[in-house]
Amino acid sequence: MSVYGKGTAYCVFARARCCGVISAIPARVVRMTEGSGNNASAHLTVKGTGVVAGIAYADVVWVRPRPELPTGGTTIPEEEREAEYERFVAAADTVAERLDGRARSAEGPAAEVLDATAGMVRDRGWRKTVRKNIRSGMDAAFATVEATAKFVTMFHAAGGVMAERTTDLRDIRDRVIAQLRGEEEPGLPAIDGEAILFADDLSPADTAALDIEHYRGLVTELGGPTSHTAIIARQLNLPCIVAAGTAIRDFEAGAKVLIDGSVGTVRSGADPEEAVRMVQESQERAAKIARWTGPASTKDGHRVQMLANVQDANAARIAADTQAEGIGLYRTEMSFLSATEEPSVDEQAALYGKVFAAFPESKVVVRTLDAGSDKPIAYANMSEEENPALGVRGLRIARDNEALLTRQLDAIAQAAEGRGDQAPTWVMAPMVSTARESEWFASLCKERGLTPGAMIEVPAAALMADKIMPHLDFVSIGTNDLTQYTMAADRLSSQLAYLTDPWQPAVLRLIQHTCMVGHDTHTAVGVCGEAAADPLLACVLTGLGVNSLSAASTAVAGVGAQLAEVTLEECEAAAAAALASEGASEARDAVRAILA
Ligand code: PEP
Ligand code: MG
Repeated sequence: MSVYGKGTAYCVFARARCCGVISAIPARVVRMTEGSGNNASAHLTVKGTGVVAGIAYADVVWVRPRPELPTGGTTIPEEEREAEYERFVAAADTVAERLDGRARSAEGPAAEVLDATAGMVRDRGWRKTVRKNIRSGMDAAFATVEATAKFVTMFHAAGGVMAERTTDLRDIRDRVIAQLRGEEEPGLPAIDGEAILFADDLSPADTAALDIEHYRGLVTELGGPTSHTAIIARQLNLPCIVAAGTAIRDFEAGAKVLIDGSVGTVRSGADPEEAVRMVQESQERAAKIARWTGPASTKDGHRVQMLANVQDANAARIAADTQAEGIGLYRTEMSFLSATEEPSVDEQAALYGKVFAAFPESKVVVRTLDAGSDKPIAYANMSEEENPALGVRGLRIARDNEALLTRQLDAIAQAAEGRGDQAPTWVMAPMVSTARESEWFASLCKERGLTPGAMIEVPAAALMADKIMPHLDFVSIGTNDLTQYTMAADRLSSQLAYLTDPWQPAVLRLIQHTCMVGHDTHTAVGVCGEAAADPLLACVLTGLGVNSLSAASTAVAGVGAQLAEVTLEECEAAAAAALASEGASEARDAVRAILA
């Protein structure tokens, strides 16, 4: 996918002026500090959004700092203002020509982004705003800062892809200011050995100029799955984690870090021997993954449907570029986290329709609003709660506000209208705990011609599967919350990470029970929590009898390629070994021994 193209810079500025609000991709950042002491980065784990799978282990290198920005400026006498503008034009032209040169020596999306960035430096609207500022007496540097700030505000207001383009804007501002001052260009430092590049955000020009002989991976504080960093990292097949938050500032230059782009973790303090082994394995795996074409099945032909987890239309389009056979979890609430008022049925239908459009001939599983706990939504969660993870979240909100749910179901039905038999729309409720809840939800879905299902993420729902499933067509196991509630351990707590591990045999036993009931009642059982993104655990889930797996787009091919290497019998043996283990790490080791 490329969001860049010839002349895109002009379109981007123009769209910022006219387009409406597109929902931004909210980042979920979990910081896990394992150690402390003088060296802040000695034992630290930070989680961001993995956008390119793969493991890398190398020294941290930070991008060269951006120039200090002027907060005021000298007042330019009237007679010198035209010359000051000429000085800006000369600096901007130099920057644009330098970028043109790099574009000529790059190819594919890298060349496109460099070309587009050069186009942004030449943008008439931006230059006109700088000229207006200089004519009002500002010096060139301050005029550039002010003009850029105006466009950044517009891009942010537009949201989505446009908001991600603000990095490009700041980048051209910084390059022009450095040029005006005769300073070194900000960006990539020259390095000799191997390194993992850390940045607040990478500019298109820097990402496109990355030398993969030296740079083994990328970690950025900001950015999103569709940012240029992600686009080019995908093209370069460079393990990449974006939106990792300010916590990454604790990783000091020169410290060794281990990054895992499939799960989005950045870790210092790893055992060097183990890290090197993990990198080697990851490279071998990458070669196999690159050869995997889907659809997913075990070596002996046992089919497992491989689906993708998405949160909006952008993510759905990215998923459509993978081998995913459809969407297994559409987290609708993620589009409304910053909404203060409930969107109308038509507005919601338009939003859902864009997601459906990415998979016009495949299954899409829509989850109704999972508001509450770590995802509060202003218009849905009315009161403060002492214990929100155990509070009125997910389907529970609709007990006192059924209309909120039925309006969403109406919008889903409206968006799904006209989708043929090849493209079923399934709808599931989060946080179902009882048979009554599943019956009630199913009746609301059926009234609207929708196929009802429930997430199994509360242990009670797994244990009562025989009473819950008869009301439904399918269930999808949310292993993130199922683990949290089974182990009584907050999923966001770094101290409890050893408990919030879906390899916990207690969790696997609940999954086994759910699968057995699913089998007996002919109810499809899927898994859409993070467990489905772990290739080894995916084999265990298959051995337990799960019919479909839904994972982040970055994990789809990795899971599919792993399944293709094992037989159903091996999956079943792995599942039996995991179930019989004492704990999560024992289960992992036992399964590795069987499947490795
Ligand atoms: C889960 O709990 O496993 C799940 C998929 O839902 P979420 O992570 O959105 O709570
Ligand atoms: Mg959940």
